[in-house]
Amino acid sequence: MSCLFCKIVDGSIPSTAVYQDDQCYAFADIHPQAPVHVLIAPREHIVSLADTNPDDCALLGHLLWAAAEIARAKGLPKGYRVVVNTGPDGGQTVDHLHVHLLGGRPLTWPPG
Ligand code: 5GP
Ligand code: ZN
Repeated sequence: MSCLFCKIVDGSIPSTAVYQDDQCYAFADIHPQAPVHVLIAPREHIVSLADTNPDDCALLGHLLWAAAEIARAKGLPKGYRVVVNTGPDGGQTVDHLHVHLLGGRPLTWPPG
């Protein structure tokens, strides 16, 4: 098994845990782009959002709920951004589905 985030999820590569449950593992991004930058990954290996199917709907909802729960715990009263980079044009660099939670500073729009 060669997937970086599978190794982070199973603990064989160290990370700073932020939240975890039976479906997902959330950890601090190694190159944070904002004061709060957390990655929420499913424990199950799914390559990207483009690889999901109707059976994944509950898991996808859970990942978004986890992002909101972490944001509440971090205290981000002015808001935050949730991003799922998907595929090469989407800027995805790790091929294990993950949700970025970014907050703690104003974020510009549109993205690059
Ligand atoms: P993507 O570009 O695929 O949307 O996001 C991948 C993210 O994973 C990037 O923000 C990158 O900084 C982060 N990342 C890459 N390698 C590691 C690592 O070994 N540990 C942690 N904590 N984050 C990583
Ligand atoms: Zn994986």
